[in-house]
Amino acid sequence: MPVLLLNASLQPLNVISRRRLVVLLTKERVAFLDDAVQAMVVEELAQRRFSDGVIVVRLLRNIVVPRRMLRPNRRNLLLRDEHCCQYCGIHAAPPELTIDHVIPVSRGGNPSSWENQVVACKRCNSRKANHLPAEVHLRLRRPPRPVVQEYAHLLFLRYPEVRSAYEDLLSSVLPESGVGRADRVGHASRGVLSALGGLQS
Ligand SMILES: [Zn+2]
Repeated sequence: MPVLLLNASLQPLNVISRRRLVVLLTKERVAFLDDAVQAMVVEELAQRRFSDGVIVVRLLRNIVVPRRMLRPNRRNLLLRDEHCCQYCGIHAAPPELTIDHVIPVSRGGNPSSWENQVVACKRCNSRKANHLPAEVHLRLRRPPRPVVQEYAHLLFLRYPEVRSAYEDLLSSVLPESGVGRADRVGHASRGVLSALGGLQS
């Protein structure tokens, strides 16, 4: 039961644990966007038996998200570049992909910046070796940019099942005059508090 936490503005913020969900519900910080889902989750929490579906909750008050920089480690670089060689464009499984320094470290390139590291297939990486891309007629498909914490794209790459739940949600909520529906059900969370009693130990 992955739990997707949205800002009050419906901006995706994070995927949180069930325990964190209980805390937020108890503090009346979040609401469900769907009454039926709310009833189901309350029952699941009470019985401690959980289904696999994605739960979406929304903060009742918008929070300002600080722009924190993520570290450009291998995992995050693979997510940013979508497992795609940034020179030839081939998609591959992680073991087939390497991290290439655009300007080689031996030639003064930054060894650990977002801008100087890209995903490359083994073939392109060995062709590039100790050269600049242009020297071996390679060209980056897009400029490598840093990724910030609230970057929903990265969140959805990490949790693909959460992306489709979010898209379903937007298509069901937005046609009804913005977020009005979400506001209406927001107050329903008060009713679940008694059901949650004792779960937050
Ligand atoms: Zn390649």
